[in-house]
Amino acid sequence: MSIDTRPLTELANHDDFLQRHNGPSRQDVARMLEALDAPSIGALVDKTIPDDIRLRGELNLDGPRGESESLDYLRGLARQNKVFKSYIGQGYHPTHLPAVIQRNVLENPGWYTAYTPYQPEIAQGRLEGLLNFQQMVMDLTGMPIANASLLDEATAAAEAMALCRRANKKHKSERFFVADDVLPQTLDVLRTRAAYLGFELIVGPLEALAEADVFGALLQYPGVSGEIHPLETAIATAKGNGVMTCVAADLLGLVLLKEPGAMGADIVFGNSQRFGVPMGYGGPHAAYFATSDALKRSLPGRVIGVSKDSRGRPALRMAMQTREQHIRREKATSNICTAQALLANIAGFYAVYHGAEGLRTIAARVHRLTTLLADGLTRQGIALKHDTWFDTLTLVGVDTHRIQGRALTREINLRYPADGEVGVSLSETTTAADLGELFDVLIGEEHGLSVSELDREALAGDSSGIPTAYRRASEFLTHPNFQRFRSETEMLRYLKRLENRDLSLTHAMIPLGSCTMKLNATSEMIPITWPEFASIHPFAPNDQVTGYRQMITELSDFLTEITGYDSISMQPNSGAQGEYAGLVAIRRYQAAVGQDERDICLIPSSAHGTNPASAAMAQMKVVVVECDREGNIDIADLQAKASQHRDTLSAIMLTYPSTHGVFEANIRQACQIVHDNGGQVYIDGANMNAQVGLCRPGDYGGDVSHLNLHKTFCIPHGGGGPGMGPIGVKAHLAPHLPNHVMTPQDGIEPDSGAVSAAAYGSASILPISWAYIKMMGARGLREATELAILNANYVAKRLEGHFDVLYRGANGTVAHECILDMRPLKAASGISEEDIAKRLMDYGFHAPTMSFPVAGTLMVEPTESESLYELDRFCEAMIAIRREIGRVESGEWDKTANPLVMAPHTMSDLMDAEWSRPYSRELGAFPSEAVRDAKVWPAVNRVDNVFGDRNLICSCPPIDAYRDA
Ligand SMILES: *Cc1c(COP(=O)(O)O)cnc(C)c1O
Repeated sequence: MSIDTRPLTELANHDDFLQRHNGPSRQDVARMLEALDAPSIGALVDKTIPDDIRLRGELNLDGPRGESESLDYLRGLARQNKVFKSYIGQGYHPTHLPAVIQRNVLENPGWYTAYTPYQPEIAQGRLEGLLNFQQMVMDLTGMPIANASLLDEATAAAEAMALCRRANKKHKSERFFVADDVLPQTLDVLRTRAAYLGFELIVGPLEALAEADVFGALLQYPGVSGEIHPLETAIATAKGNGVMTCVAADLLGLVLLKEPGAMGADIVFGNSQRFGVPMGYGGPHAAYFATSDALKRSLPGRVIGVSKDSRGRPALRMAMQTREQHIRREKATSNICTAQALLANIAGFYAVYHGAEGLRTIAARVHRLTTLLADGLTRQGIALKHDTWFDTLTLVGVDTHRIQGRALTREINLRYPADGEVGVSLSETTTAADLGELFDVLIGEEHGLSVSELDREALAGDSSGIPTAYRRASEFLTHPNFQRFRSETEMLRYLKRLENRDLSLTHAMIPLGSCTMKLNATSEMIPITWPEFASIHPFAPNDQVTGYRQMITELSDFLTEITGYDSISMQPNSGAQGEYAGLVAIRRYQAAVGQDERDICLIPSSAHGTNPASAAMAQMKVVVVECDREGNIDIADLQAKASQHRDTLSAIMLTYPSTHGVFEANIRQACQIVHDNGGQVYIDGANMNAQVGLCRPGDYGGDVSHLNLHKTFCIPHGGGGPGMGPIGVKAHLAPHLPNHVMTPQDGIEPDSGAVSAAAYGSASILPISWAYIKMMGARGLREATELAILNANYVAKRLEGHFDVLYRGANGTVAHECILDMRPLKAASGISEEDIAKRLMDYGFHAPTMSFPVAGTLMVEPTESESLYELDRFCEAMIAIRREIGRVESGEWDKTANPLVMAPHTMSDLMDAEWSRPYSRELGAFPSEAVRDAKVWPAVNRVDNVFGDRNLICSCPPIDAYRDA
């Protein structure tokens, strides 16, 4: 063979990454086009996307750049960040992520590429991890019920406030008390939420609570300046006055401090970051949220509950809240959808790894070091603000400026709450040597203090910042899961065992419509554990985060170009939070132009449940716009409702392409109608994967959109979070984007309150989206969108004649997903969409989205990352299942004993001594050639949802429960 004679400049695989991100090869594309009878992808796209919204020409983006080149560039940006030792505290602390968890969970696609456990039979591993998290939270807080994470401590506080108002039937006021030593970022978010819920915040010292005429109260435990309040009397008095109490508690502190549950708190919440999750310049981390038993039915977020499977064995699944928003719409308890599952799992595993003893040692060390710091400082005549502490001290009457100078020289960050005050928070990572260095900084080098000397004296004098009456007396983490896996070998095997129970993208395509389960490339994931991104406190000074800021600016520029908007806010840390932030921006803008009265939000009946839930949180009144028989917005109804409400119309929330999987032809007109009637247009960008490079919401009428970076832009779903939901806005809304008390933003109104705890949301996962866009470039992104559309149309075509595709666009094509209607099959055979979903597990697949947006359907979104091989494998499984349904329909198989209603099949089924079913074991468990090769075994049989909802249990079941069954 002759050697390639191209010149050196051409001997490079410029397209290498895009060909790896995109599943179909050139030959695949040719075959799919042939099947679709389409001359080219261009022709298919022309048929699919309305001509009047098409982007002419290519996006103006750099790239594509190779994987190593992009990582080198990011490495350069990372190096511009300065990783100082952080004693800032204020809700975020350095922590040691155990290496066995870092490598086998955080850096492991078996964990991070899974989706929210909608199909529990193939998600028992992460459900157990989340149940551990809930058990840990319940134990440490002393509360009987906990959820499986919220987005951050500040938004959890807002959820707590809203929950108090809903649940408190005794006190009718619209006022909420907040202790004045609350974390400042929490107060910022509370202010935003309170404004649109119509609440007045009363901020004052804890002592003022007894006299406050409020429906609820939030107490920080310990306070931001380190003081530990004896909450017992305050809570009891409040209770006597009909006031509900919420305690924001430090999880590590609770190891030593009396648990709020034992003091009568109604709600306890906080951040679990310091349980092994890097600070990451703000996130992602899991907030925890626990309540009294009385509140269990109105808990926001997802709750993992114990139910049983069809063999009567314990089986886990998400409890009733799962589909809450889709059912209750604007009456939903909250808009939380994506939460922080991966991070909750990590925090739970941190507790599994350390157990109660390990946590006691860590907490005791942190506390001892803080005590020694206090002793040394007071000995040198430095006054402390409080005489109680767990891990945080506030020095008073000191020369802040000099201390700051010395600290910066030594690459140390402290908290500077006021002139003359310095705050210091110690952490798991603080050592005795660090303490010596802190003395040098806080006192000056001639202090002559010895840490070991101080330690001896402290022990002799029984010195502590936690008075005896405030100490924890109860046990915690007594469940065997927190005792058995203490050696690394045991821990490794436990993590692997759980991972092996779950189906993730490492096994098969996950065709969940509206969820965009595309490739999360390894290169994209590499930077998130670099210390220069991971170990940065969200409130580190600006000059230490220039690399972060540059990366965020570049990503914002990419996203403005991709969406056609003028400005981006990275603050919202989920899609639903983006919706809320966008609607709030609209309301702020309308208030600023004297249109306060505009509060009607039009929402099509097909909308995702978070849309009406977010509108309700922004104090808007939802008016539903109907869809026509083709699934499109009924323009006549829209016109009628928009003009009926023209004096009070605030906005419309449209999803595009619609949740019905179609590019509606009249989107421009729909936007125009709303504008003509004085409203703003919110485009839900969850389906941006069908638009990137082909059309832009900012061009066809959108004023604001959120983007789900965890859908379109490759942040992995983590089994239910993390996510990022930045919003793009037109220039007139830009001043009304969220600002942040700790990180003021240029060009944004100073009184535009925050929506998240950190100014850039979950900043540490932004490099993933940055890398994706950089490595794809404009052409690669466009090709990805085209292939997403091609793949969806191919699936629709291959399944034609077997299943009905419910909605199609004007020219007979679908967008990037398609809805398969199972209702006719159910009518004819009794086999439901759920039976099909469970039977798919036997074939090795995760089901498509079930019963959203239309009950009785399955919505398939293949994404561009799946190859023709995999698409065919999925379609063949679906067709085989259709044939099986035919056998039920014809009466050949019994309606109640067939492989569909008895799916999924487990190893236990095969091991039954008696096999009395009217089909073979082989047909049950090995229905296709592919699964004979590689089988993902469902860990349990079909889970009984109703039983679990009637008997809500969200703690780890005793080991005997498994044995008895
Ligand atoms: C996923 C999704 C959302 C919600 O996003 P989260 O990040 O889960 O909060 C909103 N709308 C649509 C159409 C979605 O698919």
